[in-house]
Amino acid sequence: MNEPNPAIFLHAVERRYRQGEATLDILTGAELAVWAGQSVALIGPSGAGKSTLLHIAGLLEHPEAGEVYVEGTPTSRLSDGERTRIRRTEIGFVYQFHHLLPEFTALENVMLPQLIRGLSRKEARVRAAELLGYLGLKERVQHRPSELSGGEQQRVAIARAVANAPRILLADEPTGNLDPKTSGHVFGALTQLVQASGLAAIIATHNMELAARMDRRVTLQDGRVVELT
Ligand code: ADP
Repeated sequence: MNEPNPAIFLHAVERRYRQGEATLDILTGAELAVWAGQSVALIGPSGAGKSTLLHIAGLLEHPEAGEVYVEGTPTSRLSDGERTRIRRTEIGFVYQFHHLLPEFTALENVMLPQLIRGLSRKEARVRAAELLGYLGLKERVQHRPSELSGGEQQRVAIARAVANAPRILLADEPTGNLDPKTSGHVFGALTQLVQASGLAAIIATHNMELAARMDRRVTLQDGRVVELT
């Protein structure tokens, strides 16, 4: 029986930065495959290369060598336009800070990516309301970000990230800015969503308790991905 393709597969990925005379080897042959419905915690100290790996997985940065496959499709030789299209349709991002647009309501913030993709206002509104309801924000849809708590803002950011039904969710310290209890709630919402919607998720976190709730845990050692058991 054929194994389905991983939703995302980083193969032999190398990334280095030049700093004056010195070269920083950040990724030196990183391998990571994540299947649909699977959540992977990316753990490691600051500076280990977690954000770099997420940027490469999200097609925001090119590696010096190696390949990123999205649903089995190699992406390194695609045009910028094609990479942008894949990023918009297949990949959702959540950052440490929510980056919601302050002048728009929660509902409108989740509608926006769908409108940009060409959905009608009505379709976008229905999907946004459904997602926000799923994330426990039914009573908050008309609130602006400044009228929401940190945890609520971050749940809106999660709803926005998955508004266009991506196959892959990449999150960089999504609860890094929240107190432990709120982090637990937001993380619970995130993992539930990953399972319910069959997303493949890579979530960078410092929090081992939260990492323990995910399907797999990996770290970066000398620029390579190492599976933790
Ligand atoms: P993490 O997310 O694990 O904290 P990063 O991926 O942000 O790690 O960074 C890994 C290393 O690469 C750090 O030492 C950082 O200073 C360096 N780095 C990241 N981006 C750049 C860049 N654009 N130019 C030079 N060095 C960079």
